[in-house]
Amino acid sequence: MTHRLLTGQVVIATHNAGKLVEMRELLAPYGVSASSAGERGLPEPEETGTTYAENAAIKAHAAARATGLPAFSDDSGLAVDALDGAPGIFSARWAGASKDFAAAMARIDHELRKRGANTPPTRKAHFVAALCLAWPDGHEEIFEGRVFGRLVWPARGTKGFGYDPMFQPKGFRRTFGEISSIEKHGIDRSGAHPRALSHRARAFLALADACLKGNRDG
Ligand code: IMP
Repeated sequence: MTHRLLTGQVVIATHNAGKLVEMRELLAPYGVSASSAGERGLPEPEETGTTYAENAAIKAHAAARATGLPAFSDDSGLAVDALDGAPGIFSARWAGASKDFAAAMARIDHELRKRGANTPPTRKAHFVAALCLAWPDGHEEIFEGRVFGRLVWPARGTKGFGYDPMFQPKGFRRTFGEISSIEKHGIDRSGAHPRALSHRARAFLALADACLKGNRDG
Protein backbone atom coordinates (compact mmCIF):
# COMPACT_ATOMS: atom_id res chain seq x y z
CA MET A 1 0.00 0.00 0.00
CA THR A 2 1.34 3.44 -0.89
CA HIS A 3 1.02 6.11 1.76
CA ARG A 4 1.27 9.83 1.22
CA LEU A 5 4.34 11.42 2.79
CA LEU A 6 4.01 14.42 5.09
CA THR A 7 6.48 17.27 4.57
CA GLY A 8 6.60 20.94 5.53
CA GLN A 9 3.96 22.39 7.82
CA VAL A 10 1.15 20.61 9.62
CA VAL A 11 -1.70 21.82 11.82
CA ILE A 12 -2.27 19.77 14.95
CA ALA A 13 -6.05 19.54 15.10
CA THR A 14 -6.53 19.59 18.86
CA HIS A 15 -7.63 21.97 21.61
CA ASN A 16 -6.46 19.53 24.31
CA ALA A 17 -3.29 20.88 25.93
CA GLY A 18 -2.11 17.46 27.16
CA LYS A 19 -2.46 15.85 23.76
CA LEU A 20 -0.80 18.84 22.08
CA VAL A 21 2.33 18.45 24.21
CA GLU A 22 2.57 14.76 23.38
CA MET A 23 1.84 15.21 19.65
CA ARG A 24 4.51 17.94 19.39
CA GLU A 25 7.03 15.73 21.21
CA LEU A 26 6.29 12.84 18.87
CA LEU A 27 6.66 15.02 15.75
CA ALA A 28 9.77 16.85 16.98
CA PRO A 29 12.43 14.50 15.57
CA TYR A 30 10.88 14.59 12.08
CA GLY A 31 11.51 18.23 11.14
CA VAL A 32 7.80 18.96 10.60
CA SER A 33 6.76 22.37 11.94
CA ALA A 34 3.41 22.39 13.68
CA SER A 35 0.91 24.97 14.86
CA SER A 36 -2.27 23.90 16.64
CA ALA A 37 -5.95 24.41 15.90
CA GLY A 38 -6.29 26.06 19.33
CA GLU A 39 -3.47 28.52 18.61
CA ARG A 40 -5.02 29.36 15.23
CA GLY A 41 -8.43 29.98 16.82
CA LEU A 42 -10.15 27.27 14.78
CA PRO A 43 -13.51 26.06 16.11
CA GLU A 44 -13.75 22.56 17.60
CA PRO A 45 -15.87 20.43 15.25
CA GLU A 46 -18.61 18.28 16.77
CA GLU A 47 -17.43 14.70 17.21
CA THR A 48 -20.37 12.87 15.67
CA GLY A 49 -18.54 9.64 14.74
CA THR A 50 -19.15 6.28 16.36
CA THR A 51 -15.50 5.20 16.30
CA TYR A 52 -12.17 6.74 17.25
CA ALA A 53 -11.11 6.68 13.59
CA GLU A 54 -14.24 8.53 12.45
CA ASN A 55 -13.82 11.23 15.08
CA ALA A 56 -10.12 11.62 14.31
CA ALA A 57 -10.99 12.04 10.61
CA ILE A 58 -13.68 14.67 11.39
CA LYS A 59 -11.15 16.76 13.35
CA ALA A 60 -8.30 16.46 10.82
CA HIS A 61 -10.45 17.19 7.74
CA ALA A 62 -12.03 20.22 9.42
CA ALA A 63 -8.59 21.69 10.22
CA ALA A 64 -7.18 20.85 6.76
CA ARG A 65 -10.16 22.52 5.05
CA ALA A 66 -9.94 25.59 7.29
CA THR A 67 -6.19 26.15 6.84
CA GLY A 68 -5.30 24.67 3.45
CA LEU A 69 -2.56 22.69 5.22
CA PRO A 70 -2.20 19.02 6.09
CA ALA A 71 -3.69 18.39 9.54
CA PHE A 72 -2.83 15.86 12.23
CA SER A 73 -5.47 14.77 14.75
CA ASP A 74 -5.87 12.33 17.63
CA ASP A 75 -9.05 10.77 18.89
CA SER A 76 -8.55 8.63 21.93
CA GLY A 77 -10.12 7.24 25.03
CA LEU A 78 -10.08 4.76 27.87
CA ALA A 79 -12.02 1.49 27.55
CA VAL A 80 -12.72 -0.33 30.84
CA ASP A 81 -13.42 -4.06 30.48
CA ALA A 82 -15.81 -4.33 33.46
CA LEU A 83 -17.78 -1.31 32.18
CA ASP A 84 -18.29 -2.91 28.75
CA GLY A 85 -15.75 -0.58 27.16
CA ALA A 86 -17.04 2.68 28.71
CA PRO A 87 -16.20 5.52 28.73
CA GLY A 88 -14.55 4.75 25.33
CA ILE A 89 -15.21 7.43 22.72
CA PHE A 90 -17.02 9.41 25.44
CA SER A 91 -13.92 9.66 27.67
CA ALA A 92 -13.67 13.45 27.34
CA ARG A 93 -17.42 13.87 27.99
CA TRP A 94 -17.24 11.98 31.30
CA ALA A 95 -15.17 14.91 32.59
CA GLY A 96 -17.98 17.35 31.78
CA ALA A 97 -17.78 20.90 30.50
CA SER A 98 -15.36 21.83 33.31
CA LYS A 99 -12.98 19.02 32.18
CA ASP A 100 -12.83 17.66 35.72
CA PHE A 101 -10.83 14.46 35.33
CA ALA A 102 -10.56 13.91 39.10
CA ALA A 103 -14.36 13.57 39.04
CA ALA A 104 -14.28 11.39 35.91
CA MET A 105 -11.75 9.03 37.53
CA ALA A 106 -13.81 8.90 40.73
CA ARG A 107 -16.87 8.02 38.62
CA ILE A 108 -15.01 5.14 37.00
CA ASP A 109 -13.89 3.86 40.40
CA HIS A 110 -17.46 4.20 41.68
CA GLU A 111 -18.90 2.29 38.69
CA LEU A 112 -16.31 -0.46 39.16
CA ARG A 113 -17.14 -0.82 42.87
CA LYS A 114 -20.86 -0.98 42.08
CA ARG A 115 -20.07 -4.00 39.92
CA GLY A 116 -17.87 -5.57 42.62
CA ALA A 117 -14.71 -4.98 40.55
CA ASN A 118 -12.37 -4.39 43.48
CA THR A 119 -9.34 -6.51 42.66
CA PRO A 120 -6.58 -5.82 40.09
CA PRO A 121 -7.62 -8.63 37.69
CA THR A 122 -11.17 -7.21 37.52
CA ARG A 123 -9.93 -3.70 36.73
CA LYS A 124 -8.48 -4.25 33.28
CA ALA A 125 -8.58 -1.35 30.85
CA HIS A 126 -6.88 -0.09 27.73
CA PHE A 127 -6.28 3.24 26.06
CA VAL A 128 -6.92 3.55 22.33
CA ALA A 129 -5.68 6.28 20.00
CA ALA A 130 -6.58 6.84 16.37
CA LEU A 131 -4.29 9.30 14.61
CA CYS A 132 -5.36 10.86 11.34
CA LEU A 133 -3.41 12.86 8.78
CA ALA A 134 -5.71 14.68 6.37
CA TRP A 135 -4.82 16.87 3.41
CA PRO A 136 -6.87 19.76 1.96
CA ASP A 137 -7.66 17.63 -1.13
CA GLY A 138 -9.46 15.10 1.10
CA HIS A 139 -6.75 12.42 1.24
CA GLU A 140 -6.41 10.77 4.67
CA GLU A 141 -4.18 8.31 6.48
CA ILE A 142 -5.33 6.70 9.76
CA PHE A 143 -3.38 4.62 12.30
CA GLU A 144 -4.48 3.08 15.62
CA GLY A 145 -2.60 2.09 18.75
CA ARG A 146 -3.54 0.53 22.10
CA VAL A 147 -1.93 0.03 25.48
CA PHE A 148 -3.28 -2.45 28.02
CA GLY A 149 -3.15 -2.21 31.79
CA ARG A 150 -5.15 -1.89 35.02
CA LEU A 151 -6.89 0.91 36.89
CA VAL A 152 -5.66 1.73 40.37
CA TRP A 153 -7.43 3.60 43.17
CA PRO A 154 -6.61 6.03 44.56
CA ALA A 155 -5.17 7.58 41.43
CA ARG A 156 -1.45 8.33 41.65
CA GLY A 157 0.80 11.00 40.18
CA THR A 158 0.53 14.52 38.87
CA LYS A 159 2.12 14.08 35.45
CA GLY A 160 0.29 13.58 32.18
CA PHE A 161 -3.38 14.44 31.68
CA GLY A 162 -6.86 12.96 31.63
CA TYR A 163 -7.04 9.46 33.11
CA ASP A 164 -3.25 9.01 33.35
CA PRO A 165 -3.08 8.90 37.20
CA MET A 166 -5.33 5.84 37.45
CA PHE A 167 -3.82 3.84 34.55
CA GLN A 168 -1.02 1.39 35.31
CA PRO A 169 0.34 -0.04 32.06
CA LYS A 170 1.07 -3.78 32.01
CA GLY A 171 4.58 -4.54 33.27
CA PHE A 172 4.84 -1.25 35.22
CA ARG A 173 4.42 -0.46 38.93
CA ARG A 174 3.91 3.23 38.25
CA THR A 175 0.90 4.83 36.66
CA PHE A 176 1.05 7.07 33.60
CA GLY A 177 0.59 9.93 36.09
CA GLU A 178 3.90 9.00 37.71
CA ILE A 179 6.09 8.85 34.60
CA SER A 180 7.33 11.54 32.25
CA SER A 181 5.73 11.97 28.85
CA ILE A 182 8.97 10.80 27.23
CA GLU A 183 8.82 7.54 29.23
CA LYS A 184 5.10 7.30 28.42
CA HIS A 185 5.92 7.47 24.70
CA GLY A 186 8.56 4.79 25.31
CA ILE A 187 9.94 5.24 21.83
CA ASP A 188 13.43 3.95 21.43
CA ARG A 189 14.37 4.04 17.79
CA SER A 190 18.07 3.60 18.39
CA GLY A 191 17.89 -0.17 18.02
CA ALA A 192 16.72 -2.28 15.10
CA HIS A 193 13.30 -2.79 16.70
CA PRO A 194 11.70 0.49 17.72
CA ARG A 195 9.26 0.10 20.62
CA ALA A 196 6.57 2.40 21.80
CA LEU A 197 4.56 2.22 25.04
CA SER A 198 1.52 4.48 24.99
CA HIS A 199 -1.45 4.05 22.64
CA ARG A 200 -0.58 7.40 21.04
CA ALA A 201 3.10 6.52 20.56
CA ARG A 202 2.20 3.11 19.10
CA ALA A 203 -0.14 4.68 16.57
CA PHE A 204 2.44 7.37 15.87
CA LEU A 205 5.19 4.86 15.15
CA ALA A 206 3.00 3.29 12.46
CA LEU A 207 2.18 6.75 11.08
CA ALA A 208 5.85 7.76 11.06
CA ASP A 209 6.90 4.58 9.29
CA ALA A 210 4.25 5.18 6.62
CA CYS A 211 4.20 8.97 6.18
CA LEU A 212 7.34 10.47 7.69
CA LYS A 213 10.00 8.31 6.05
CA GLY A 214 13.19 10.26 5.37
CA ASN A 215 12.15 13.16 7.64
CA ARG A 216 13.97 12.01 10.75
CA ASP A 217 16.91 14.07 11.99
CA GLY A 218 20.32 12.49 12.35
P1 IMP B 1 -11.10 13.15 22.57
O1 IMP B 1 -10.14 12.32 21.76
O2 IMP B 1 -10.95 14.60 22.30
O3 IMP B 1 -12.50 12.65 22.44
O4 IMP B 1 -10.68 13.02 24.09
C1 IMP B 1 -10.12 11.83 24.56
C2 IMP B 1 -10.11 11.82 26.07
O5 IMP B 1 -9.61 10.54 26.46
C3 IMP B 1 -9.14 12.81 26.67
O6 IMP B 1 -9.75 14.03 27.02
C4 IMP B 1 -8.68 12.08 27.91
O7 IMP B 1 -9.61 12.21 28.90
C5 IMP B 1 -8.69 10.63 27.51
N1 IMP B 1 -7.35 10.23 27.07
C6 IMP B 1 -6.95 9.98 25.81
N2 IMP B 1 -5.64 9.71 25.77
C7 IMP B 1 -5.22 9.81 27.05
C8 IMP B 1 -3.93 9.65 27.65
O8 IMP B 1 -2.90 9.42 27.00
N3 IMP B 1 -3.91 9.80 28.97
C9 IMP B 1 -4.99 10.08 29.72
N4 IMP B 1 -6.20 10.27 29.22
C10 IMP B 1 -6.32 10.13 27.88
